[in-house]
Amino acid sequence: MAEVLVLAEHTDAGEVKKVTVELLTAAARLGEPSVVWAGPGAEAGRERLAEFGAARVYVADSADFSDYVVAPKAELLAQLVAEKAPAAVLVAGTAEGKEIAGRLAVKTGSGVLTDAVDVTAAGDGAPVAGHANFGGAITAHARVAKGTPIIAVRPNAIAAVPAAAAAEIVPVTAVASDAARTARVTEHVVAAKGERPDLAEAQIVVSGGRGTGSAEGFTIIEQLADALGAAVGASRAVTDAGWYPHQFQVGQTGKTVSPQLYVAVGISGAIQHRAGMQTSKTIIAINKDPEAPIFEIADLGVVGDLFTVVPQLLEEIDKHKSL
Ligand SMILES: Cc1cc2nc3c(=O)[nH]c(=O)nc-3n(C[C@H](O)[C@H](O)[C@H](O)COP(=O)(O)OP(=O)(O)OC[C@H]3O[C@@H](n4cnc5c(N)ncnc54)[C@H](O)[C@@H]3O)c2cc1C
Repeated sequence: MAEVLVLAEHTDAGEVKKVTVELLTAAARLGEPSVVWAGPGAEAGRERLAEFGAARVYVADSADFSDYVVAPKAELLAQLVAEKAPAAVLVAGTAEGKEIAGRLAVKTGSGVLTDAVDVTAAGDGAPVAGHANFGGAITAHARVAKGTPIIAVRPNAIAAVPAAAAAEIVPVTAVASDAARTARVTEHVVAAKGERPDLAEAQIVVSGGRGTGSAEGFTIIEQLADALGAAVGASRAVTDAGWYPHQFQVGQTGKTVSPQLYVAVGISGAIQHRAGMQTSKTIIAINKDPEAPIFEIADLGVVGDLFTVVPQLLEEIDKHKSL
C-alpha cells in the first residue's frame, strides 16, 4: 500500500495536536499513514499516534527544527518525498503548515492544495481535496496535476477515527542547509495558557465584534465563552482597536476556525471575517441590524442588542447547568 506522509504538529514535550490525528484519519483514506516528527518529544507522542493509525514515525530530532523557522521542516519533507515517493503529503492548514506546504511544493515541483475540508481518493486512487465555498453551500473538489500531492487540511474539518497501528519509530538524519538557516529563532515565549480551549481547535467559538463597543464591553464575550466552555475570537475591528489581542482575530488575516458551533456577536459578517469561519458546522449570529450580512450564513439569527440578548442567554445557560 502506498505510504502517505503526515507532518505532526506537536509540542517539544510530545503533546500531539488534535489536527495531527485528524490528518492520520485523512491519510488512511489514501494509503498507509506515516508520521514525520521534526524535533523532540516523539517517544512521548508515539502512543497517541499509534492509536490513530500511524504505521511508522520518521523522527528527525535536531535542534535545527527549534532554532530555525519553517525552512528545515520543508527540507526534511522534501528529503522524505525523494526517498519514499509517498502517494501524498498532508500538513495542518495552520499558518505554519501552509507555509511549509508552499515551500515543499516548490522544492519538489508538485501541486499544492490548501484549506481542504475533506480528503478522499478518486476512482484511480489519486488524492482529491474538498474545499468549502460560500459558507459551505458549494464544495469544490480538486486534485493536483503534477508531482506529489501536498494537501493542507483545516483543523477540525475531519473527524479523527481511532485505528490501532504500530507507530514504529524510524530515526532520520536531516541536516538543514545554509539557506534554511538564514532566519534564526532568538527566543521562544510560551503564551500564558488560560482555561479556555485553543481557538483553532475549539469545538465552540464565541466571537465578538465592534458591536461590543469597547474593551470593557468585550468582556461579555468572555463571559459567554466561559459559560459555554468555548474559545474566544474577535473581528479585526476589535483587534485593531486594541480591545482584544491580535492572536484571537478570526478571518482572512487572522485564524481560520471550523468549530461545531460559532457564535458571532456584534459582528457584521464582512467577507474577510467570513473567510475565517464560514465552514463552522453551526453558526449563530446576534446583531441589532436585521440586514447584517452575517445573517446570510447564520443557521440561527437573533436580531437584538447584544447587551440585552447575551445576559438573557447567560441566565438560560445557568438554569440548564443547575438542572
Ligand atoms: C485586507 C483585509 C483583511 C481583513 N481581514 C480581516 C480579518 O481577518 N478578520 C476580520 O474580522 N476582518 C478583517 N478585515 C476587516 C473587515 O473588512 C471588516 O472591517 C471587519 O470584519 C468588521 O468588523 P466588525 O464586524 O466587528 O465591525 P462592523 O463591520 O463595524 O460591524 C459591527 C456590527 O455590530 C452590530 N452592532 C453594533 N452594536 C450592536 C449591539 N449593541 N448589539 C448587537 N449588534 C450590534 C452592527 O449592526 C454591525 O453589524 C479585513 C479587511 C481587509 C481590507
